[in-house]
Amino acid sequence: MSGAKPRFRFAPSPTGELHMGNFATAVLAWLQARSMNGTFILRIEDNDTQRSKQEYADQIMRDMEWLGLDWDEGPFYQSKRTDLYRDALSKLEKADLIYPCFCSRKDLQALASAPHGISSEGPDYPGFCRDLSKEEVAAAREEKDPSFRFRLPHRSYSFTDLICGKQEYPPGYGGDFVVKRADGMWAYQLACTVDDLDMGITHVLRGSDLLDSTPRQLALTDVLGGTAPSYAHSPLWMGEDGHRLSKRNGAKSIRELRESGMSADDVLGKIGVLSGLMDEYGSASLQELRDQFDLSRIGSKHVDYIP
Ligand code: GLU
Repeated sequence: MSGAKPRFRFAPSPTGELHMGNFATAVLAWLQARSMNGTFILRIEDNDTQRSKQEYADQIMRDMEWLGLDWDEGPFYQSKRTDLYRDALSKLEKADLIYPCFCSRKDLQALASAPHGISSEGPDYPGFCRDLSKEEVAAAREEKDPSFRFRLPHRSYSFTDLICGKQEYPPGYGGDFVVKRADGMWAYQLACTVDDLDMGITHVLRGSDLLDSTPRQLALTDVLGGTAPSYAHSPLWMGEDGHRLSKRNGAKSIRELRESGMSADDVLGKIGVLSGLMDEYGSASLQELRDQFDLSRIGSKHVDYIP
């Protein structure tokens, strides 16, 4: 890829309207792309077909346009890319890197009281179904449809995050994770990794709630074959109650802010200050933020949102 344009993406899940904290990630990813003269791709992560809605995807695009965040390719909908995920799954299957799992939600909830390890996705899966015999699988299939888990290679994963610095994860971190759910939906880790590879993404900038998804995606990248992008995880925005910013603790959606009379530059100015790109409150244009853009100004600590 030497000499090729770097490739970036914004990959929202259309499960609700987005607020300023969500959009800070979009703005930072866009600024990173534009400051490196790269290609910016919009990918709608609508794998969860029960929670995703086209009207939310449309609203996200309207909000992006209002803020001036243009994209060069897309929107690509994950719900239309399932052939790619199926191919990846069969590649993993051929390499004996996935196995069917029949554990119920209840089995897994019981682990929460005595986890032997825990990650942002919950207690590590201890591998109950890892070594089932063919006969055991056949019998279990009579009862229910399985999910499919990735047999995580026993090795450590590390990477240098462009915002958070060096990250190291011990062997087995998070445990074997689900790549396809029992209800047939493709899991985030698989779809995201396959798409980042297929789209030739060179730089990922996303919220730090996904920091520890990265070792899982590196593990998948390794076995699917391809080059992992560089990663930057931007700080999460917190509400006044100390929890992650959400509708519940007072975040207004971008649409609501617009309807209340805020201008796009007011929103961008606030994102600029709270993200550390600007020193003083006030409105800012995308061009101004672009001039100030420097990943090293973005801290790795949570941001306290002040409405
Ligand atoms: N779809 C994910 C979200 O909205 C982001 C995925 C990613 O950037 O890797 O939280």
